[in-house]
Amino acid sequence: MIYQGKALKVSALDNGIVELQFDLEGESINKFNEQTINELHEVVALLRDQQDMKGLLISSAKEAFIVGADITMFHGVFEKADDEIVAINMEMNRTLSGIEDLPCPTVVAINGLALGGGFELCLTADYRVMAEGAKVGLPEVKLGIFPGWGGSVRLPRLIGPDNAFEWICAGKEKKAKDALFEGAADVVVPAEKLREAALDLLAQCQAEGAAKIDYLTKREEKKQPLKLGQLDNMMAFETAKGFIAGKAGPHYPAPVAAIKAMQKHAMLGRDQALEVEAKAFVKVAKTEVCKNLVGLFLNDQAIKKASAAHAPKASKVEKAAVLGAGIMGGGIAYQSASRNTPIIMKDITEPALQTGLDEAAKLLAKKVDQGRMTSAEMAKVLGRIRATQSYGDFEDVDLVVEAVVEHPAVKGKVLAEVEQQVSDDAILTSNTSTISITQLSESLQRPENFCGMHFFNPVHRMPLVEVIRGEKSSDRAIASTVAYAQAMGKTPIVVNDCPGFLVNRVLFPYFAGFSKLLEDGVDFQRIDKVMEKFGWPMGPAYLLDVVGLDTAVHAQKVMAEGFPDRMAADGKGAIDVLAEAGRLGQKNGKGFYNYEPDRKGKPRKKPAAEVAELIQPLAKQTLDLTDEQIIERMMTPLCIETIRCVEEGIVDTPAEADMGLIYGIGFPPFRGGALRYIDSIGMAQFCQQTEAYQQLGGLYQPTEGMKAMAADNKRFYQS
Ligand code: NAD
Repeated sequence: MIYQGKALKVSALDNGIVELQFDLEGESINKFNEQTINELHEVVALLRDQQDMKGLLISSAKEAFIVGADITMFHGVFEKADDEIVAINMEMNRTLSGIEDLPCPTVVAINGLALGGGFELCLTADYRVMAEGAKVGLPEVKLGIFPGWGGSVRLPRLIGPDNAFEWICAGKEKKAKDALFEGAADVVVPAEKLREAALDLLAQCQAEGAAKIDYLTKREEKKQPLKLGQLDNMMAFETAKGFIAGKAGPHYPAPVAAIKAMQKHAMLGRDQALEVEAKAFVKVAKTEVCKNLVGLFLNDQAIKKASAAHAPKASKVEKAAVLGAGIMGGGIAYQSASRNTPIIMKDITEPALQTGLDEAAKLLAKKVDQGRMTSAEMAKVLGRIRATQSYGDFEDVDLVVEAVVEHPAVKGKVLAEVEQQVSDDAILTSNTSTISITQLSESLQRPENFCGMHFFNPVHRMPLVEVIRGEKSSDRAIASTVAYAQAMGKTPIVVNDCPGFLVNRVLFPYFAGFSKLLEDGVDFQRIDKVMEKFGWPMGPAYLLDVVGLDTAVHAQKVMAEGFPDRMAADGKGAIDVLAEAGRLGQKNGKGFYNYEPDRKGKPRKKPAAEVAELIQPLAKQTLDLTDEQIIERMMTPLCIETIRCVEEGIVDTPAEADMGLIYGIGFPPFRGGALRYIDSIGMAQFCQQTEAYQQLGGLYQPTEGMKAMAADNKRFYQS
């Protein structure tokens, strides 16, 4: 053994070959944490002194190669001064270039995942051998940065700038066969042949005569300026910049910054190019967007941890049932079956069942068309859904999701009925959007086995499931429901019972902000545009059309009853007026906008001149507001209500609140969530901002907790 660390070991193999192996102690994966980075610096210094080394094999002892950098380090590092960050990156670059410059051939054997820094290390080797199932990629843009350890320098020189733009700016993982096709990998072999193939390549580099492969020329190409002529170069970069800017949108600066950096260092040799990359990297690492996206990643980890903490108390869900085969029931059945949990779908009418089955079949057929599934697999998934009108076979169901019409009496009756059919320890859940879970549990004999399981529409696409704890819900009921939601590929967040739970409780104050703007004579299309520019996937009027105006009227009423001090209606608003006029939104083709199916059958929105006549009479005055004021008036009620949910313990942590909004209502991810958004403004400034809006009512009033936070200069997140 030449070196034995806690993350790396170096050993001598036969024929002067040395193996550098990544094997991070106490972890199931390899990552670039402080330990690994420090050891890599030491090891490369050591390798430089290995006089008789004839070749270097780089490998991993784990199932994955290296999944990337340890993202928990990012906030700490990115808060440092610019030149310190440049220095940190350049130190790593010297080490990585040290591998590239070793006086012997180098081959990396890539198994599992090699992402981010892990793949940048692979790029330093002369040859990359990949196992068939392995994947590589540079996903840094997803965190608001771009590759900062030479990835933006080596990849375009290896696979050409056009391919590199796509790899770096889209940040997707690439399968071995695609990496091979584009030239990022040199050989792809079955996993069991990986090591042998890598050693074989090293032997070929050492061979004499015709068998010898010329690794030095290949290495040199990677270290030289790009080969394009100046004009081609300019064209490639300029075209890409425009295209990527359009795709990434104004809120995600990293992809365009990556291209600009690549353009700037295209005509430079490696060492100078690495300096350009490091300096450009700092600029994106310092943006609020990067901070928020890194925060988002860490929050996602935190909510996964919170879900894992429930696991010991969960009962297995091997067979599920859903009551109601409507929009939601059909979606729930599809999702459960797709993720391998068989499900009984019960409805009271045959046509309803057929609609539910047809919907599942349609979604699966689309996957088959796209080549993401075979017809045989589709048949298998459909075989996991059993449509029925009776309670036969319910005795061995582990968990039931009730998704019948939103009516307390009907739900109460259906839940009491199904409780008689299932075993004593089966878990019952309700997908209600507005009815109290504690109230619904009153119709049950075993209320401890009951909780809420609130999906979002469309079920197959929306990642969030709110798991609602009623007063009597047991830990087992919550844990089993969390586990089932995860098994369905969803992100569960446990919330306490209250009107609207977390997501709707926060969303309706936002809609109230919208209605108040209409009362002040602001055009709803302008509000949509302003909020979309702010980063929402759709403006509030468009979103209301998607939710359904009738659904919104109902939910608004529930919220007003629940929180009369600030949500009670002050006469009829635009939502009521439109619903009364039969404009229910996308579901009947007319709401704030009119909808017509496009060529693919998707509803396309068009302006509806007739809507102005309906809502203009609601305007009590015509205020001339700036875009900034519109944003403040929309965001303030949403943000304050989110804070209330944290203060009242509806959610346990700011992370869960923020992720609930991002996954549940499409809160702009690059802003990190409502609480991170307030952190970015500063609580004192935010509270001061609300002063201008006190005439708008209780939704705009900061809580005592907020005032205390402002006075103490406190934040929701420490970094
Ligand atoms: P839907 O009207 O599309 O479907 C309801 C189905 O329940 C119908 O097929 C009906 O035949 C069936 N049904 C009625 N009584 C029944 C009974 N006794 N046994 C079995 N089936 C019965 O409604 P939906 O939009 O799917 O909503 C279902 C539930 O999900 C509601 O509680 C709703 O609030 C909630 N929800 C809806 C959405 C949404 O966007 N649609 C989102 C989240 C939650």
